[in-house]
Amino acid sequence: MLGINDFYESSPYLLGTQRMGIETNSHMCGTAVAGVDAAESVLDPLCRSHDVGNLWLVDASFFPSSAALNPALTIGANALRIAPSIAAAAVP
Ligand SMILES: Cc1cc2nc3c(=O)[nH]c(=O)nc-3n(C[C@H](O)[C@H](O)[C@H](O)COP(=O)(O)OP(=O)(O)OC[C@H]3O[C@@H](n4cnc5c(N)ncnc54)[C@H](O)[C@@H]3O)c2cc1C
Repeated sequence: MLGINDFYESSPYLLGTQRMGIETNSHMCGTAVAGVDAAESVLDPLCRSHDVGNLWLVDASFFPSSAALNPALTIGANALRIAPSIAAAAVP
């Protein structure tokens, strides 16, 4: 039975993205990493700043690292995930 590592190793597309290397500037991610530990991340898991209570960053910066695949749909999906918590925190 094939596992996920077999897929990664056999995919020409993923091999192509790996060849892009660090010199590519198309998929910049992770400049304000989200995480549970304020000592190791900028944002909490709902993309709210650990340090500035009224600040959310809902762009590519929340990723813990740059993925091998195109990130735009995940960025949009995450924005939809986070929007209700921003609305809930808004003062009427
Ligand atoms: C050439 C290229 C091709 C790509 N192709 C794909 C692809 O096929 N599929 C895919 O999934 N991803 C692709 N990406 C990556 C994708 O475009 C980015 O990951 C995504 O757009 C990042 O979203 P973002 O909201 O973090 O930043 P951005 O989309 O860059 O949005 C930032 C916004 O902030 C605005 N802004 C900046 N400074 C200020 C300021 N001071 N005041 C007000 N506004 C400001 C900018 O004008 C911009 O509208 C590509 C990227 C590049 C460069």
